[in-house]
Amino acid sequence: NSDLVIKDLRVSVEDKEILKGVNLTVKAGTIHAIMGPNGSGKSTLAYTLMGHPGYTVTGGEVWYRDHNILELEPDERSKLGLFLAFQYPVAIPGVTVANFLRAAINAHRAEEGKDPKETAIPMAQFRKQLREQMAALGIDESFARRYLNEGFSGGEKKRIEILQMAMLEPSMAIMDETDSGLDIDALKIVAQGVNTLYAQHPEMGVLVITHYQRLLNYIKPHFVSVLMDGRIVREGGPELALELEEKGYDFLREEVASA
Ligand code: ADP
Ligand code: MG
Ligand code: MG
Repeated sequence: NSDLVIKDLRVSVEDKEILKGVNLTVKAGTIHAIMGPNGSGKSTLAYTLMGHPGYTVTGGEVWYRDHNILELEPDERSKLGLFLAFQYPVAIPGVTVANFLRAAINAHRAEEGKDPKETAIPMAQFRKQLREQMAALGIDESFARRYLNEGFSGGEKKRIEILQMAMLEPSMAIMDETDSGLDIDALKIVAQGVNTLYAQHPEMGVLVITHYQRLLNYIKPHFVSVLMDGRIVREGGPELALELEEKGYDFLREEVASA
């Protein structure tokens, strides 16, 4: 089963419960948006799905492809086809964008008991794929030789995240506030990159996490879920995002408080 199924997920950070029983299914082949105010636990959810050690799972399960991924290491989750684009991408001095991407692809291609040289992507194929994807995302070729994210602007980091995603071809992509800090042009390019990838891989699932409705003008979600104070409090279609944009989060907060 290639749906991502989150069941009663509870997560604490430094002994404080942040996620208080999240239930959510991201269906394969759909774009699903999670919206929520600042501090509601959106990034906590994203980091937990990728296995960040700073987040302690105190309950629940997350199923993907017949695995409870909470029991897997981050690299095993990645090999299953999960990909996380971070809200704050990290710099890796000394490692070029090209070498980073090649290492990531080869890690996916590695097979137990086989020589990594045998399974590695042929250099010419890698270069061709990299050139094509960089062109599609409007990234200058010189970026391939630069150290990952070192001195990159916010917009450049986000484009490189999408480049990573395009090169790795995940089956379930999770994007945490990919829109934050982007001007409208960079936002359009990032959204176009996601849309192109989705069009090429219609079976993939995409979880778009965002505070603002703006991104959803360019990446059209099939489903929208609202996270508030560590719980999903509302689910709907794209019209829910518009309603939130119009009314703000407070009306939901009041509804939830009085329920
Ligand atoms: P969002 O992404 O929705 O803005 P976060 O998941 O970043 O929310 O944060 C949810 C809550 O967890 C906030 O109250 C935040 O202060 C707290 N939190 C998140 N990460 C940490 C951390 N590493 N250390 C301490 N508190 C954290
Ligand atoms: Mg935040
Ligand atoms: Mg966040």
